[in-house]
Parts: sequence; C-alpha cells; structure tokens
Amino acid sequence: MTFDEVSAEPVDTTESGVPHTEGDGHGPPDKSARKTEERRGGPQRAEVSNYEIVSHWFGQAAERLELRDDIAAVLRSSYREVQVQVPVKLQDDRIHVFSGYRVQHNGARGPYKGGIRFHPEVDLDEVRALAELMTWKTAIVGIPYGGAKGGVNVEPSKLNEDELQAVSRSFMNKIEKVLGPTRDIPAPDVGTNAQVMAWLMDEYGKLHGHSPACVTGKPIALEGSYGREAATGRGVVYMFCEVARERDISPSDTTFVVQGYGNVGSWAARLMQELGSRMVGASDGSGAIRNDHGIDADALAEHSRNGGALREFDSAEEIDPDELLETDCDVFIPAALGGMIHKQNADRLRCRMIVEGANSPTTPAADEILQEKDILVVPDVMANAGGVIVSYFEWVQNLQHFRWDEREVNDRLGNIMRRAFREVWSRADEGDVSLRTAAYELGIERVVDAAQTRGYIS
Ligand code: NAD
Repeated sequence: MTFDEVSAEPVDTTESGVPHTEGDGHGPPDKSARKTEERRGGPQRAEVSNYEIVSHWFGQAAERLELRDDIAAVLRSSYREVQVQVPVKLQDDRIHVFSGYRVQHNGARGPYKGGIRFHPEVDLDEVRALAELMTWKTAIVGIPYGGAKGGVNVEPSKLNEDELQAVSRSFMNKIEKVLGPTRDIPAPDVGTNAQVMAWLMDEYGKLHGHSPACVTGKPIALEGSYGREAATGRGVVYMFCEVARERDISPSDTTFVVQGYGNVGSWAARLMQELGSRMVGASDGSGAIRNDHGIDADALAEHSRNGGALREFDSAEEIDPDELLETDCDVFIPAALGGMIHKQNADRLRCRMIVEGANSPTTPAADEILQEKDILVVPDVMANAGGVIVSYFEWVQNLQHFRWDEREVNDRLGNIMRRAFREVWSRADEGDVSLRTAAYELGIERVVDAAQTRGYIS
C-alpha cells in the first residue's frame, strides 16, 4: 500500500528509473547543469551544500531517537524526484532550455507541500534538501502536509514579464501530473511571487478545470489569502516575541539586522519595527548598508519595491556584505539563501540571537561556533514556518470557497507558531539540547508515527 495517491502515469524520477531507497540514501547522482558548471555561489556562501546541511541535522536527531537504520534510510531519500526540461524562446529569438525540478520527499502526513524557486543556482541537490526540510517543518508545526519543493534554474530578473510567464507555464505543463489539491500544492519561494502562482494556477486549470487549491500564495484577486505575503516574516517576528518573553527582552530596546531584504526579510523588518525595534543593518544581492541610528524598514521596502538596489538607499552607509555580520545587534535575521553563515564567518557575528528566516542559512560547523558563543538560534524548521501555515489556511479557504479576514489569519498563525515554539522549547529544555535538535526530533517522531500507522513502513 502506498500513501501517495497519484494515479497518473508514473513520471520517471531518476536517470535509471531505480527507486531511491538503496545505497547511502542520498538518491541518484545529481546530473543537473549546475554540477557541470562552475558554482556561482556568492562570495559569502559556504561550500557545504543545502543537502549536506539538512542531512547532518537529520542524522543527529535520528541517532538521538535511536531510529532504526532501515527507517532512517526511507526518510533520508525522496519519494519521487522529477526533472524536466523547460524550453522557452526568449527575446533573442532562440530557444533556451532550463532545468525544472519537483521533489516530493515524504507524504505520510498529508499532500506534499512546498515552494517553487526560480534561481540560477537551483539544482536537484538543493531542491531535494528543501523538500526534506518541508517534511520536518510541516510536522513540527502540526499542519497536515508532507514535504516537497520545486525550482527552475533560471535568473528571473533577466526575463521580461512574457518570458517569466512562459517559463512558469512551461514548467507547470511538465509537472502537472504529480500535482493537484490532494497530491502536491506548490507555493512561492525565492524568485517567484503571487503573479507566478496565478500563472501556475491558470495553466493547471486548463488541464484540470478551475482549481484554486492547486497552488497557494496566489493574489487576493484569485482566491489568495489575506496575510499570506507577510506570513513568513510575521512568523519570524512571533518567534522572536516568544524568545523575548522567555529571556525577558524588551522588543522596544532591541536592535536587529536583516540579511536578504526580499519578501521574508522586509516583512520581518517592518513588523519588528512596529514593535519598536530598530533595524541597524540590512543587505540584498546588490550589497549591504548600516546605520546605528536606525534604518526605516518601510522606506527601505518601498525603495526595493520600486526597483532600487539596497546599497543606493540614501539614509544609510554602504558597507561590505561581510561587515554586516559584525554589526552589533540583538537579533540577526538571515533571510537570503542557504549556507550564508558558515565556518569562515560565524565567529564574526555579534548578536545575541539568530532567527532563521531563510532555509538552511547556517552550516553545522557554524552552528557549533554559535553555540560556543552562546548565541541562541531559532532554527528555520520552526522560525520560517509562517509561510506554509498561511498557505495551509489559503488551501483550507479555497477548498471551502470561503475567505477569512486578515485578523483571523494572523491570530490563527500566532496560535500555531506559539504552540510549536512551546513544544520545541520545552523539549529542548528537558533534553538539554538545542532548539534545532529538539525541533528535528519532534518532526521526525511525528512523521515516523504517521508512516507506521498508515502501514507505509513497519
Ligand atoms: P526573495 O527572492 O523575495 O528574497 C531574497 C532576498 O535575498 C533578495 O532581496 C535578494 O536580493 C537577497 N539576496 C540574494 N543573494 C544575497 C546575498 N548573497 N546576500 C544578501 N542578500 C541576498 O525570497 P524570499 O521568499 O524572501 O525567501 C528568502 C529565504 O526565505 C529563502 O531561503 C526561502 O527559502 C526562505 N523562505 C521563504 C518563504 C516564503 O514564504 N517566501 C517561506 C519559508 C522560507
């Protein structure tokens, strides 16, 4: 018996078609384009891959849980990995072939759920890691989903709107067989937004009929949910508030730095500012800025929305992105890409806590350094779950063709985030382990319980 109910033609998941349950459990070798090209990784990113990071945390928690080796092997590998070609004719009148991926890691607790990333560095390894992270994340916060992720190795800022639409539609066209409101529901991630979700929904609808619940993070005009756009940043701030309560920190006396001023980072910043906290540094792909007297988060968001590079913002001093880490602050919020806090730079951080808005921003070696420096880390698997929680609300509303107002969405989000925080915090306390270890243990236990109860593993 299988817990995946896809009845469509099975899509080949590997070069060989062999299931990924053998060998070291790391799945088939990555044959995507990036592996044969020089890695473009920004100057600040670690050489350790997102997959190695997630595998490390999983391995550590599995060992503490004394998980059987054969069960761990099932959980280390993906249920299905789809790689497709996305051929699109661009302005130069030539067909460009991008690689698209959808990885479904584990569906024991419900339909697969996870974002779609458009970024030139997307490859199978990264998507696989992010899919696994979603499995633990949805389990930790207790929403009824499995974990998935998707992506296309395209640079969206180099495409005009028609080209971006063509890439989105072509990708959906190739992967629609494994998607659907009860199978796998994509959402936005780096390089995609509500508009991309609208195109994906429309393309899916051409084949299956109008199905708003097939993707989340849609525009309000297309049955999107109020509060979805800000949800991940809001969740990050809820997590900060919980730590502040535990540690007797006053938000109005708090300074913070945001690395990656995109959707997650800019919303976290604006909401922190609403609490009275002061932003003293920020960065995006173009560079970094600092002002110890404070940077107006709303004005900076407006500047970015209008297409301005962050380093051109006038009321702050431009600094080297590496210097951002050395900015004195209470809270550091990584909200860019994976692996940005690593062995070579973790020692430079001068904050009291890190709330991980990005996925896998901290490598295991960096995590050890942070523990030695007594910097509290609220891990990605709980800290940035706000987005998938409100995606869950959007899906629930879509299935009922009903809509909640923003206050109701935010209140419900707060309840789920606080419950997850309390569960992870007390487990960490009882076991004298980090929040990350406690969170992974909780997530893994719940997934194993569901998979065993279904009879998928025994
Ligand atoms: P986004 O594309 O809106 O923003 C990413 C930002 O990072 C951009 O401002 C970009 O310029 C910046 N950036 C890129 N390279 C950088 C570098 N080297 N240094 C500094 N900044 C850099 O993406 P997003 O949706 O805000 O996602 C950000 C992170 O949060 C990702 O890791 C994503 O997986 C994670 N996340 C997002 C959501 C969501 O709902 N959007 C949910 C959970 C987790």
